[in-house]
Amino acid sequence: MVTQHDVVIVGAGLAGMRAAIEAARGGVDVAVVSKLHPVRSHSGSAEGGINVALGNVADDDPDIHTFDTIKGSDYLADQDAAEIMCHEAIEDIIELEHMGCYFSRLPNGRIAQRPFGAAGSPRTAFAADITGHVLLHVMYEQLLKHEVKVYEEYFAVDLAMDGETCTGVVCWDLVNGGVKAVAARSTVLATGGMGRMFHGTTNAYACTGDGMAMAFRAGAPLKDMEMMQFHPTTLKSNGVLITEGCRGEGGYLRNSEGERFMAKYAPNALELASRDVVSRSEWTEIHEGRGVDGCVLLDLTHLGADHINRALPGSRELALDHAGVDAIDDPIPVRPGAHYQMGGVATDVWGRTPIEGLYAAGEVACVSVHGANRLGGNSLLETVVYGRRTGAKAAEEAAERRPVEATRTAAGIDMVRQRVNRLLATESGPRSDELREALATTMYDNLGVFRDEAGMTQAVKDIAELRARYDEGVVVQDKGDVFNSDLTYAIEVGYLLEMADTLAQCGVFRKESRGAHSRTDFVERDDENWLCHTIVRRTPEDPEFTIETAPVTITKHQPKVRTY
Ligand SMILES: Cc1cc2nc3c(=O)[nH]c(=O)nc-3n(C[C@H](O)[C@H](O)[C@H](O)COP(=O)(O)OP(=O)(O)OC[C@H]3O[C@@H](n4cnc5c(N)ncnc54)[C@H](O)[C@@H]3O)c2cc1C
Repeated sequence: MVTQHDVVIVGAGLAGMRAAIEAARGGVDVAVVSKLHPVRSHSGSAEGGINVALGNVADDDPDIHTFDTIKGSDYLADQDAAEIMCHEAIEDIIELEHMGCYFSRLPNGRIAQRPFGAAGSPRTAFAADITGHVLLHVMYEQLLKHEVKVYEEYFAVDLAMDGETCTGVVCWDLVNGGVKAVAARSTVLATGGMGRMFHGTTNAYACTGDGMAMAFRAGAPLKDMEMMQFHPTTLKSNGVLITEGCRGEGGYLRNSEGERFMAKYAPNALELASRDVVSRSEWTEIHEGRGVDGCVLLDLTHLGADHINRALPGSRELALDHAGVDAIDDPIPVRPGAHYQMGGVATDVWGRTPIEGLYAAGEVACVSVHGANRLGGNSLLETVVYGRRTGAKAAEEAAERRPVEATRTAAGIDMVRQRVNRLLATESGPRSDELREALATTMYDNLGVFRDEAGMTQAVKDIAELRARYDEGVVVQDKGDVFNSDLTYAIEVGYLLEMADTLAQCGVFRKESRGAHSRTDFVERDDENWLCHTIVRRTPEDPEFTIETAPVTITKHQPKVRTY
């Protein structure tokens, strides 16, 4: 079965819904495909807030926001893209407010802003510590208001291609079973991140790199895949995130000796240095024997019960539920955990990929505004600014393209059906969760906060073996049609393995330390040789990768030594 629209958006998180709303405003027929109900998207778990230089608490300016973003990126961000994001933020956040987002307030009624890591001014707007939840629900209301068709619980398996042009997406219908295609003149990927390839990740189970893998297999280049961010404050038991807002509200990080150790590593910014710096400092403390059971301590006790209950109620609850600690009385044990993929599908500042008809926005994309290290609060902002821009461009260009002939997507349907049938027919071999476990172990051990040639090469070898086992066939025990999560998980693990391979190989390729890519064998940033993006690509026919470099766009800010 093939249905047709002008624009199809794959993914209903903040980026996808914001893109859909803007495309609908462009007067074209828009549909959204999502493997989850929209409000279950990972965006909903964002806690700390969204950056915007409103200057409500202290002087601020979009230019300073741009500079902080570029410095935070360790000078790998494309500066034109960062400028657009920081300057367009103000109108976009005010629009969110008008759509109905109830941001926390200052006593004078203005939107409150909290300090966040590596920001020169308190710049992060928030709704207590459930910002993503609030934004996502408001966006969903707007989606309904604009009467956008949502194919809920449709799992996209592959892009539909007509030669070199993307003509929509081929899906597995999770509720009813069966392969169905949604044909469109413009297809926008907004499928989020890929943190599930690591143990102890903050990411939801659905963050499996699907969109990156689909675009990659169709020949789209991926950019800066080695840049996986580790968030400094996650719970050891299950990777659950304790927001940076805790440090923004005045929380301390202490080691086993009670020392506020960040004074040694970032004497000015202390706990509010950038995430890569704080994660490395924690790792060093833990590995030099000043940790507490593999963690350091996030101490909020001096803030007092009133402050914690007002500004950080969700964090208190998470620590109680998942670590058995009441943050009012005791410090929370935390450690760095895999959190955010700075790299992704390479796009221009309108979300366009080099493939005709294919766009990307949000965490799946690499515009690139985050470079080698994202600032907390900039990702939600990217979903909104670049979601809007991408939706607008996808609609505008859809109107200029010829309609897709439905028969052209039939080949894609056949191919996906064959893949599904092959998975269902496999009777012996490993289960996909066994392969995911092994993958997550080698990624955590070898591509964590610190990396070196030997570890990364080991990961490349491990991944090659896991991919070979996967290709021989994984067993899907559920043979049914309805909510066959065994089947979809098997497909997701295939995406994870391929994207992990790009991450590890790009990691070996970049012979320097920059942002999240911190090598013990190349400890310095090397602007002479490595002030460049990595670009990894393959063709649809040949699964072998090639890796090359591409220049970074520099407008105003020449690279400087980065200290906090
Ligand atoms: C715990 C946590 C807290 C965070 N806190 C903050 C914060 O405070 N501030 C900040 O700026 N950033 C934060 N981030 C980062 C930020 O929330 C995310 O990067 C951002 O929300 C991603 O949005 P997205 O729309 O790109 O993707 P997502 O919200 O992940 O949505 C992806 C969508 O794609 C769909 N999808 C995926 N694969 C398929 C497929 N194969 N077929 C169909 N549909 C598919 C899913 O159903 C979903 O609807 C946080 C992240 C985490 C994990």
